[in-house]
Amino acid sequence: MKPFIGIQAGHQNIESNCAFALRGGTGAPGEKDNNIRIRDRLGQILISKGFQVQLDDANANCQKNTIGKDFDFYIALHCEANTHGKGGGFLAAPDPAFDSVNIESKRIVKAIKDEYFKNTGIEEHEEWITTAMTQYYMWSSLTAKTPCGIIEMGVAQDAHDKVILADTDRVANAIARGICKAFNIPFDAPQSPQEDPRDRRIKELEKEVEDLKKQIVELQKRPVSCPPAADPRKEQALIDIQHIINNL
Ligand SMILES: [Zn+2]
Repeated sequence: MKPFIGIQAGHQNIESNCAFALRGGTGAPGEKDNNIRIRDRLGQILISKGFQVQLDDANANCQKNTIGKDFDFYIALHCEANTHGKGGGFLAAPDPAFDSVNIESKRIVKAIKDEYFKNTGIEEHEEWITTAMTQYYMWSSLTAKTPCGIIEMGVAQDAHDKVILADTDRVANAIARGICKAFNIPFDAPQSPQEDPRDRRIKELEKEVEDLKKQIVELQKRPVSCPPAADPRKEQALIDIQHIINNL
């Protein structure tokens, strides 16, 4: 079975959420477009690695297609507001009170953290985690078996993070690396061993040496007259051997 990953673009279409209280949550300036663009690319990458994927908007809490399904992991993508005076991001697993598979959620979140920050260059700031993340509205809508987590990928309006967040492949690949790691799926295709052309040449020369040794043995078996006449083949064999040894 392919691991099944749900990916939510935070704030997309939230204005029509079935929960009225959520409708004003349109996100930080510039955030929503990053979330959608990176979700779409992350989905493509995960499919190419052998995952099954469902792409959700912010109204997945109202949709049977999401709330009735067991996912192997459900991730919500967000960007942080520019309120810290610097760039940065973090990942958070739910508060255990909102998550019956919290150990699995934490395990997957940690695998993504291990890859995300080093591969994007975004700074990790766990001290920015709030209850809005650990008690995120989706957590109580997902099935009890679904592990989940939220990522603040960076600060949407920070000068440094903005450049990185615009690099869709860099951000999406960094998240995908972490998800692959969590599910023990290789992210980088295994390299096929390259044949060293020198190895083949060495084998050819070894064979030539063996052939020449056999020729010498044959030549030595022949009766020699006294004084022995120079045998041109033997002379040539000795020259050949010397030539090959010089070239080894
Ligand atoms: Zn957000």
